[in-house]
Amino acid sequence: MKVLVVGAGVGGLTTAIALRQRGFDVEVFDAAPAMRVTGGGLGIASNATKVLTALGIDLTKAGIGRVCERFDLCTASGKPLRALPLKSIADELGSPVVNVRRCDLVTLLRESLAGTPIHDGVQVVRYTRTGTGVTITCADGRTESGDVLVGADGIRSVVRAQAAGPEPVNEHGYVCWIATVPFTHPRLVPGGAVHYWGNGQRFGLIDIGDGDAYWWGTKNAGPGDTRLWTGVKEEILRCLDGWAPEVREVVAATPAADIVSVPAQDRTFLESWGDGPVTLVGDAAHPMLTSLSQGAGSAIEDGYTLAHHLAAGGVPVAALRRYEAARRDRARWLVTASRRLSRMEQIENPVAARLRNLALRHLPMSLVRRQNIAPMRFELPV
Ligand SMILES: Cc1cc2nc3c(=O)[nH]c(=O)nc-3n(C[C@H](O)[C@H](O)[C@H](O)COP(=O)(O)OP(=O)(O)OC[C@H]3O[C@@H](n4cnc5c(N)ncnc54)[C@H](O)[C@@H]3O)c2cc1C
Repeated sequence: MKVLVVGAGVGGLTTAIALRQRGFDVEVFDAAPAMRVTGGGLGIASNATKVLTALGIDLTKAGIGRVCERFDLCTASGKPLRALPLKSIADELGSPVVNVRRCDLVTLLRESLAGTPIHDGVQVVRYTRTGTGVTITCADGRTESGDVLVGADGIRSVVRAQAAGPEPVNEHGYVCWIATVPFTHPRLVPGGAVHYWGNGQRFGLIDIGDGDAYWWGTKNAGPGDTRLWTGVKEEILRCLDGWAPEVREVVAATPAADIVSVPAQDRTFLESWGDGPVTLVGDAAHPMLTSLSQGAGSAIEDGYTLAHHLAAGGVPVAALRRYEAARRDRARWLVTASRRLSRMEQIENPVAARLRNLALRHLPMSLVRRQNIAPMRFELPV
């Protein structure tokens, strides 16, 4: 069976690896001409490291990123609010949380696919269902046919648009800035992650190893306020006036050209994301806000689950519907829970934000643990 994968992000590459390991013939197409070397990092949570390990990719041995050993929540000025038990949760689940530079992870996944054709700079514009499978058409006019098509082409997926019809993305009224930069600071311990909660604004500072840090910031912006979304460095620093010194220092240390701005977006959950021999994985299927750090993680789960169901045999179209059914509830829950958490995190009213912080400080540890472990639990399909 030949599977065409559109998109060589974390979702598409993991899907291709899982399919290859099950003996499928796979070909991957990506619109981007070459991989970006700048950009942000990713927290790869226990659920996803468990899947990657099952695929023979152990991030702790791959020499990229840093295992998360400590996770602190603070106020904007750096006053401690709560230490989250991420390390002990990861220990309980038996798989670490690893913070990595995104391009390092993508490179590693590409290396694991050695021998599989990955066509960079090839934009897929549509697919056509044929009697026996599916044919894709690319912007340069070339066509390619396979038995199954996997749309792993991200939040603006053309495969999804064709399968499900046009739908708008949902804007959530804030911008995210992301970057990685050489940076060390006494507040950022090895394997540490610190999140700072302000009013309608947050910041994350994360050790990704080798003297590098990944940082992200968010800020509420009025509807249509694209000015803030350009993420000019001086503007970002102005927004962080009065924040903890290490927050301002890491932004100041980052070349302006290395800061990427993305609006906070997701889509209304799609209950059915298949069309005959066509299915979706990752952001193409269920884009979510970043609050739970599970977008890439759930894309990794998708890829593994899809390969599992296709390998179980039978008619491929039926296997794709079994895959989608297996993923639907978990993906819907992650999208909804990310939105709920995001609303709480981006509270702008100072009184409400203070109450939020107070509640966070006094929540019973059993509840904090339950809330944090839920998204990171994933059983491999058998
Ligand atoms: C600020 C921020 C922080 C985040 N932090 C985390 C985190 O800590 N942990 C986590 O798990 N997730 C995180 N995420 C989410 C995560 O980045 C995404 O969920 C994940 O990258 C989705 O992977 P994907 O492969 O589905 O899509 P993408 O990464 O978007 O990849 C899609 C690929 O498809 C290609 N493509 C698009 N259109 C076409 C076309 N027509 N033809 C061919 N190729 C095409 C693109 O070039 C791209 O390579 C974060 C997201 C943001 C924005």
